[in-house]
Amino acid sequence: MCSVNNSEADPGGGGFHREKQGRLTLWRFDQAPSGINVFFTTRMGGISGAPHDSLNLGFQVGDSPESVMENRRLLSGTLGLDPARLTSPRQRHTAVVANLEQSSQVGGGSISEESPFDPCDGVLTDLSAAPILLHFADCVPVVLAAASPDGPVVAVLHAGRQGLVRGILKNGAQMMIDHYQVEAGSISAAIGPHIGSCCYEVGGMIAAEFAERFGTQAVNGAFLDLAQASTADLVAMGLESRNIHHLEICTSCDPDFYSYRRDGVTGRHGAIAWIE
Ligand SMILES: [Zn+2]
Repeated sequence: MCSVNNSEADPGGGGFHREKQGRLTLWRFDQAPSGINVFFTTRMGGISGAPHDSLNLGFQVGDSPESVMENRRLLSGTLGLDPARLTSPRQRHTAVVANLEQSSQVGGGSISEESPFDPCDGVLTDLSAAPILLHFADCVPVVLAAASPDGPVVAVLHAGRQGLVRGILKNGAQMMIDHYQVEAGSISAAIGPHIGSCCYEVGGMIAAEFAERFGTQAVNGAFLDLAQASTADLVAMGLESRNIHHLEICTSCDPDFYSYRRDGVTGRHGAIAWIE
């Protein structure tokens, strides 16, 4: 597939663009307030071999740490960032969101899976030049971005089924509102690539519980719609539907992305966001 100016509009109808930057192929969220950058990586352009090929950004999946470090350097270099300043929590499917408010915490988790934020499945900050990187292979990456009275604020959240049920998105939005005096209606949300309702079949009990928690529109038979569930919680927190953007890519259908359900042992693509 060819593209003009290395840029393609998203399949979901607004809010994202696919960009070729150097050897990497990235999806940019272009509805964040000015001064906030948000990207979702694909698996192309890195150095890891199979089954983690090739831009694996996660330490916890059996890839060599040297390859992960080189991939993170590649990503950081491409985006003009310092890899030593990547803050990357150890994710455990919790609803815990950390507030990255001290300069001394910047860079936690940048060189190994050891992180000062553990357990933690979301990071929020108003610090500049402090990129937050989380990893995914089917779970939903959600980035919240807003202008507070004191400047931009951004959060990157790991919302798998368990984290969603436990309230990771509500916690992230609430912290943004409480700590930074952000108006809920001014928050922009980017729902990145994740396993779609086309491919996410679960047992009947889990589907029933999910429907009870998020509404019947979040379940289609035994298939869960994680984007609908995410949207339901964000709207419940006061976000405007028009400010919630969904990059309608299924990680299990699209070979550009890692999928745990499809491949088992595999790598992790990333969601990265930072304030300039
Ligand atoms: Zn699918």
